[in-house]
Amino acid sequence: MAFIRVALDVPLATLFDYRMPGATPADIGARVVVPFRRKIATGIILGIESASVLPPQRIRTALRILRDVPPLPVDVLKLTKFCSDYYQYPIGATILGTLPLRLRQTRPIKPPPDAGTAASGADAAAGPALSAEQRHALKQIRAGHGFVPWLLRGVTGSGKTEVYFHLVADALARGKQALLLVPEINLTPQLEAQIAARFPATPLATLHSALNESERLHNWLAAQSGRAGIVLGTRLAVFAPLPRLGLIVVDEEHDTSFKQAEGLRYSARDVAVLRAKQREILVVLGSATPSLESYQQALAGRYRQLVLSRRIHAELPSIECIDTRRAALIDGLSQPLLAALHATLKRGGQSLIFINRRGYSPVLMCRSCGWTSDCRRCSAKLVLHLQEHLLRCHHCGHTEPAPAACPQCGDQDLLPVGQGTQRIEAALARMLPGARILRIDRDSTRRKHAWREMREQIQSQQIDILVGTQILAKGHDFPRITLVGVLNADGALYSTDFRAGERLYARLAQVAGRAGRGEHPGRVLVQTDFPDHPLYRALCRDDYAAFAETQLAERRQAGLPPFVHQAALRAEAPQLATALDFLARAAASGSRIADGVTLLDAVPAAVTRRAGIERAHLVVESRSRRALQDFLFRWRQQLEAAAVRKVRWMIEVDPLEL
Ligand code: ADP
Ligand code: ZN
Ligand code: ZN
Repeated sequence: MAFIRVALDVPLATLFDYRMPGATPADIGARVVVPFRRKIATGIILGIESASVLPPQRIRTALRILRDVPPLPVDVLKLTKFCSDYYQYPIGATILGTLPLRLRQTRPIKPPPDAGTAASGADAAAGPALSAEQRHALKQIRAGHGFVPWLLRGVTGSGKTEVYFHLVADALARGKQALLLVPEINLTPQLEAQIAARFPATPLATLHSALNESERLHNWLAAQSGRAGIVLGTRLAVFAPLPRLGLIVVDEEHDTSFKQAEGLRYSARDVAVLRAKQREILVVLGSATPSLESYQQALAGRYRQLVLSRRIHAELPSIECIDTRRAALIDGLSQPLLAALHATLKRGGQSLIFINRRGYSPVLMCRSCGWTSDCRRCSAKLVLHLQEHLLRCHHCGHTEPAPAACPQCGDQDLLPVGQGTQRIEAALARMLPGARILRIDRDSTRRKHAWREMREQIQSQQIDILVGTQILAKGHDFPRITLVGVLNADGALYSTDFRAGERLYARLAQVAGRAGRGEHPGRVLVQTDFPDHPLYRALCRDDYAAFAETQLAERRQAGLPPFVHQAALRAEAPQLATALDFLARAAASGSRIADGVTLLDAVPAAVTRRAGIERAHLVVESRSRRALQDFLFRWRQQLEAAAVRKVRWMIEVDPLEL
C-alpha cells in the first residue's frame, strides 16, 4: 500500500499522509486533490512512502492525482524546500505560492497544445557593434564555466542590456532557456519590446503581476514545458520551472522590489543566485549601484565583478549640490534651480524635478493651536491632496475631506507644511508661465494606460518639465531631458534606518541617470542642507565605489549587515503592549537556546500603528548564518508550541526594513 506525503497550503510546517493506490515515484511533484478537514484542497506530492507514522484509521484517501501538466521538477522542489527552511515559512504555502492560481485549484486544467520547442538563438537580430568595455565584459563572462556569479556594475546608459542580450543569445544557441528578472515589469515595457525585436523567432514568456490568471497560466506553462526560450519576469518568476535553464540575469539587482514583504519573505535576487548554483549555471547581477550585500560579496571574491564605466552615447551628467541653507526657497525651489529650469526651457530642453512625495503637502497644520492632520488609524500624518481637496493617509489609504477650518479651534488659518509633487507642480506653473508641466506620481498614473499616454507625450516633445516621484527614475530613456532637479532628499541622511543612505544613493544615481541621455550633456542639481555630506560628495563625483566603501566600513564597525546576518521577529496586535509583551516572552525563551546569536531589544516599528494595528519587532543577529538558521529553527518551534493569543507574528530573515 502506498502512502503519499503531501504539502498543503496551510500555516503549519507539517506534511500530510494520504492513501493513494497507484501512486508511483513519478508522481512526486504532482498536484493532488485531497480531503482536508471538512473541505477538499490541492497539494503537492513530496514523497511516496511504504509506511506512515500515523495510525491507519487516521489516514484518509486522496481523491485524485492531477496529471494534466507534468509534475514540478526536482530542482524546483529542492529550491522551494530550501526557501521554506531558510525563510522560516511553511513548505506547503511556499510551494503552492509559486504556482499560478489556476494550478492551486482542485479542478484539472486543459493545457494548451505544445507548440514545439524554442527556436535557437541563431535567429537573433544583429545588435550594435559593442563598445570595448562591453566586449571585455563578455569575454570575461564567456571564459567561465558552470556556476559563476557576476556583478555587472555599469553606470546608467553604459549598455548593460546589450551585454545581457549577448549572453541570452549564447544560452539560446546552446539550446538553453534564459531567465531575466526585472524589478517592476509594468514600468519597463520597453524591455519586452526590445527582446521581441532582438529575438523574433524565440518564444518569450513574461511572468508578472499585471497578467490576468489565464495569461499567467499560459506563460508559466510555456516556461515549464521549455517552449519559451526567454522568460522575463518579476520576483516570483525566479521559481518558474525551467527545464533547460542556462542563464539567469537580475537587472537592477539593488532594487528593493526583489524583496517580497509578506508571506514567504524572500529575496528573489538571493534565490536567483542560489538557483544558479544549484543548476551550475551563469548568473549576472546588474546595477549601477549594487546593493551593499552584493558589492561586499564581490569585494570578498565570492562574486566576480565587471565595471562598465562609460556611457555609450553621451557623457555622464555633471552633478552639483545647491546649498539650501544659503539659497532662499520659494515653495521649496531655490533661485539657482529656477534659473536653470528657465534656461533649459528657453533652449527647448526638457527638465525633470524629482521629489519623492506625492500630494500637495505632507501635513496640514493650524497656526493658532498647533493641530496637525494625523491619521486616526496610523502613527502618521495625513497628506494634503489639494486638487481633490482631500487628506489622505499614505499608509492605510484612509481619506477625508480637507477641512476649511481647524477641527480643534476653528481658526481658518491652516498651513500646508512641506512640499509634494502637486505643490511643486503648482509653484512651477506660477513661476514659469507657459511651461508645459506634467506631474507623474502614483495618483496621476492610477488610470489604466495613463502612464503609457504620458510617456508618449514626453517623447513627442509636448512636455517641458516633468515633476515626479521615483516612478520616474526607473530605467526610462527620455533622451531630451538635460536638467534634473532633486528636492527634499535630505531626510534619508538622518534616518534611523541604516539602509536609508544606500537607498538614497541608488535612487539619486538613477534619477541623475535620466539626464543627458541624448546628444546634449546633462546637469543635475541637488538641493540640500548638507552639501558636504560624504554621500552627496561621492554622488557628485559619480563615485559609487567610494560611497560603498565608506558605508561598508561604517557597517563593519557598527556590526551591521552584510557583516552580520539578521532576522526579525515581527508582532502585530491591537494594543502595543500586547505585541511588546509577546516579544519579551519570545526573547526570554529564545535566550535560553541562543548559541552564537544575539537578541536585541523589542522595539515598536517606525510606523508603529498602521490601519489600527500596532506593530513591533525584535532583531536577532549573528555573524554566522548557520548559527542564526539553527537558532531560528528551534525558536520557531518554541513559538509555535506556545499558544499565543491576540498576536500575529512572523519571522523575517534578512529583513530590508525594520
Ligand atoms: P544601461 O542598462 O546600462 O543603463 P542601456 O542598456 O539602456 O544602458 O544602454 C543605453 C543605450 O545605449 C540604449 O539605447 C542602448 O540601445 C544603446 N547601446 C547599448 N550598447 C550599444 C552599443 N554597443 N552601440 C550603440 N548603442 C548601444
Ligand atoms: Zn487650531
Ligand atoms: Zn492611516
